[in-house]
Amino acid sequence: MPLVVGRSAGLTDTGRKRRQNEDALVCDPPLFAIADGMGGAQAGEVASRLAAAAIEEGAAAIQGEEGVATVVRAANARIFERAVHDPAVAGMGTTATVAVVDERAGTVTIAHVGDSRAYLYRDGELEQLTTDHSLVGELVRSGRLTEDEAAVHPHRSVITRALGTDAEVEVDTLTLEAAVGDLVLLCSDGLSAMVRDDEIAQVLRSAEGVPRAAAEALVSAANAAGGEDNVTVVLFELVSEALPPPEATAVTSTTSPPEPDEVTVEDVRRHGAGKGSRWPALLLVLAIIAVTAFALWWSLVR
Ligand code: CA
Repeated sequence: MPLVVGRSAGLTDTGRKRRQNEDALVCDPPLFAIADGMGGAQAGEVASRLAAAAIEEGAAAIQGEEGVATVVRAANARIFERAVHDPAVAGMGTTATVAVVDERAGTVTIAHVGDSRAYLYRDGELEQLTTDHSLVGELVRSGRLTEDEAAVHPHRSVITRALGTDAEVEVDTLTLEAAVGDLVLLCSDGLSAMVRDDEIAQVLRSAEGVPRAAAEALVSAANAAGGEDNVTVVLFELVSEALPPPEATAVTSTTSPPEPDEVTVEDVRRHGAGKGSRWPALLLVLAIIAVTAFALWWSLVR
């Protein structure tokens, strides 16, 4: 079903413990991305910005899962090249989580490397769409660590896949069949490591799914929980392509009367004309039945 991106918001914050912000984001509908850089000095910042720039430049060519993965691999090549030739940023790397909305198909294609997450918030429920490429993530998946143990594990920030550390990178992709009212959240681990999933869902509920308000509330929640890392969130909603037809407006008005300016004069006139033209037709049919019955009775009694 065709959908369009409604409101969207991207917000990044240094947090309360770090001196620099090594996260980067892209919030350019229908393209959204998060990159969480790592490396000594300012190398992490260089890596995440290179990733965001490469993803944004490649966006025009993006189509389908393979298209998005190709753009992420191109970002990897660019960061790796730079890391190899510039000793100041040797060994730098970054996560990347990208979401591209295909409005005509009504789908969201997601590609990711590392532990920056994509979540779907639908009908009041939050679901993690991506799988963390992290040491603890793999231990949890193999059953050697519980979610609770992973949350406090000393090596919980160690990632097993990154952009820029190798010439080649394996990119995970998925396609989401979107629905009207869906809210998609991309975030760095500065949010997901500080704020539990049920608390993230609660914040989204409180913000009534409004992207800007929700983004601000999520960053505040991460900082309130300690703000130990840079925190970045990107949120976008998917809404219906067309305005509801007049019939749908009429149905809505039976339960909650719309404000006068929400009903156009044209709609009112169309509904009025419909009712007015049906009555004479019904009377004519009744009159024909009555005349026929009278003629039949008259022919019998004569
Ligand atoms: Ca981080």
